[in-house]
Amino acid sequence: MTSANDAASTGLVFHDRYLQHNTGLARSGSPATPYPYADPEPHVSSPRTVSRSKHLLDLSGLGARLTPVAPRYATEEELAMVHDGAYIARVQAIAAAGGGDAGVNAPLGPDGFAIASLAAGGAMAAVDAVMTGTVRNCYALVRPPGHHAVADRGLGFCIFNNIAIAARHAQRAYGLRRIAIIDWDVHDGNGTQEAFYADGAVLFVSLHQDGLFPPDMGLLEQVGSDAGLGKTVNIPLPPGAGDAAYAAALERVVAPVVRQFAPELLLISCGLDAGAFDPLGRMNLSSVGFRELTQAVLALAAECCGGRLVVVHEGGYSQTYVPACTLAVIETLAAITEPWPDPVLTRLLGTRTRREVGLDAERAIAAAIAVQGQHWTL
Ligand code: ZN
Repeated sequence: MTSANDAASTGLVFHDRYLQHNTGLARSGSPATPYPYADPEPHVSSPRTVSRSKHLLDLSGLGARLTPVAPRYATEEELAMVHDGAYIARVQAIAAAGGGDAGVNAPLGPDGFAIASLAAGGAMAAVDAVMTGTVRNCYALVRPPGHHAVADRGLGFCIFNNIAIAARHAQRAYGLRRIAIIDWDVHDGNGTQEAFYADGAVLFVSLHQDGLFPPDMGLLEQVGSDAGLGKTVNIPLPPGAGDAAYAAALERVVAPVVRQFAPELLLISCGLDAGAFDPLGRMNLSSVGFRELTQAVLALAAECCGGRLVVVHEGGYSQTYVPACTLAVIETLAAITEPWPDPVLTRLLGTRTRREVGLDAERAIAAAIAVQGQHWTL
């Protein structure tokens, strides 16, 4: 067990209003293509994975021991650090009209503009709490997610790019010259990649399921341009890769690149949809795998930037497993040594990919080393 003081050095951003972001029912498509179900069910990016994560955090007793960090609403001027003015106005107009789609499958309801601004402001509040030393590290349990959103449109359930806005805020408010973002959501963080593609001041590293979403993004060959050449690091991994492959990719590629970049702040796009039971991904991570990823980035932050680490919630769609994996990440941030039990872990511990890197994953990691070895010592 650790003392209460240790847990209090981890911050938590949360607001009940995040649960009011209304994605509605899943689109049922045309009668000819009744996708995803003829009988519509709640949109896969419904509030429940986040509300259940918060509930489990509180049931475990850890929620009350963390330092609460209050989110604020990002101003339009702050949103404009990443998004076009016309897009910001469009999101406002959609919300004022009662809701709609901010791009491609980026639904929002009547309060959607305010809630998305509160998500971006939550990520900024987490940066402030860490940069001012209020907490050592911070988890922003925000909704809607952000990493697919690009300058002029929403995409894949994302309205504003919370983590990109937080990085720009860290540059502007604290004069940081080097920020690293690691994105372990099962999907590529295309919006974040685009925001910093030609920017040498922000390193963007994405681990994701090869070829999943969005199409033609997160490719190995996308390595940044101009001043940002070599500062985009994509590591597409084969479906089913599992805990051992993620740990190996962290150790062999991510850690050496981040060490050489020497960030002053480390940000994590924490999707939980690489979890083993996720309906939108197939990467087979256990909650122990998420603990190991979190330990690895804690060690990197300790080594590079005085432990300054901000973790921002992204995707994750298993109502059963997202809460367990979110809790695993936050427990690790808070240095809890006796974790809350994961009731389904026993089903995963015997999985081969828990302990072995498969040949296809070995090939994928070797390919990433071959490409990124032109920019970093690997
Ligand atoms: Zn995702």
